[in-house]
Amino acid sequence: MRTLVLNAGYEPLAVVSFKRALVLVMNDKATVVERLEGEPVWAASGSWERPAVIILTRYVRVPGSTHVPVTRRGVLRRDAQRCGYCDKSATTIDHILPRSRGGADSWENLVACCLRCSNVKGDRTPQEMGWELRVAPRPPRGPQWMVRGTDRSDPRWEPYLALAA
Ligand SMILES: [Zn+2]
Repeated sequence: MRTLVLNAGYEPLAVVSFKRALVLVMNDKATVVERLEGEPVWAASGSWERPAVIILTRYVRVPGSTHVPVTRRGVLRRDAQRCGYCDKSATTIDHILPRSRGGADSWENLVACCLRCSNVKGDRTPQEMGWELRVAPRPPRGPQWMVRGTDRSDPRWEPYLALAA
């Protein structure tokens, strides 16, 4: 069970374990915005709601890193699991400029790809295949990318993630 932590300005900040969230609430560092269904949690200090979303009572400055590391899962997620060439369901990723020809492991050079296109394309470029990319691959942006752990999102988090996007 995990909890979305919002900064005092409602920006999504982090995803933490529900225990860690509860400690923040118990220490008056945060208050519960959305709670989970079910029994409250009992601690020495009384009963506590299970937090789904909490908000920090004081604003935290975040060092402004906008770099999202490239991962296979991230590329599939960015492209909504659709093949960049044929729009069918994608299960793999493709180096647009093949690795064997100096293609980088970058957001710009990777695209979600179905197995069929991947096999047919092999070590060729889309130009050589006469293929066109449906999308212009870019590094992803937005809080759902900056905050680790939001890809397995809870429905109760969605309004807060959408608000900040
Ligand atoms: Zn395809």
